[in-house]
Amino acid sequence: VKYIGVLNLQGAVSEHILMLNSIDNVQATLVQKPEQLANLDGLIIPGGESTTISRLIKQNGLLTPIQQFAKQGKGILGTCAGLVLCGKTTTHNEVELLDLMDICVERNGFGRQINSFETILDIPTIGEQIPAVFIRAPYIAKAGEQVNQLAFIDNHCVMAQQDNILTCSFHPELTVDNRIMRYFVDRC
Ligand code: GLN
Repeated sequence: VKYIGVLNLQGAVSEHILMLNSIDNVQATLVQKPEQLANLDGLIIPGGESTTISRLIKQNGLLTPIQQFAKQGKGILGTCAGLVLCGKTTTHNEVELLDLMDICVERNGFGRQINSFETILDIPTIGEQIPAVFIRAPYIAKAGEQVNQLAFIDNHCVMAQQDNILTCSFHPELTVDNRIMRYFVDRC
C-alpha cells in the first residue's frame, strides 16, 4: 500500500482524494501539519490560489518540512497552483515558493479565468489522449537541464518531471482519467 497525502490548506483537495481512492492499493490522507508527513510515500500540492496556499504553508510551519520530504526522495505532485509553488522562481514574486524543481513559472500564463480551457494531451511515458483542464493556469517559462519537460501547448511547457517531483499546469483530478495519478503513485 502507498500512503499519499494531499495538502489540505486551500483548493482542489477533495477532488484529489476522490481520484486517489479510485486507484488500488492507495491510502489517501489529508495533510495540514508537519507531523502528518511522517510515513507518507508522496504528497500532492493541489491547485487553488498559490498566494493563499503559500501563506498557509508558512503559517502552518510546513515550508521546511515539505522541502525535507522532497529531499528524502519522496514523491511530490504539484497541480496548477501546486506547480507554481514547486517552482524556483515566478514572475509574480509575492508568492514564496518551495523551490523543489528548477523551473521559472509564469503565473496565470494562459490568461484570466475566462481563458480557462480543456484540451487533450499526448504525454510521453504516460499515455495518449489524456484530457487536461486548464483553469487560470500557469506554464513553465524556463526549465533547468535536469528537468524533463513532458508536455507543451503553443510551445509552453505544461508538465514536467525532475526526479521525484512531478508538476502539471492543469487539473488531472477534474477528469475521470486517472493515468497521470497512477503514474505519480507508481513513482512514490
Ligand atoms: N492562478 C492560480 C494561481 O496562480 C492557479 C489557478 C489554479 O490552481 N487553478 O494561484
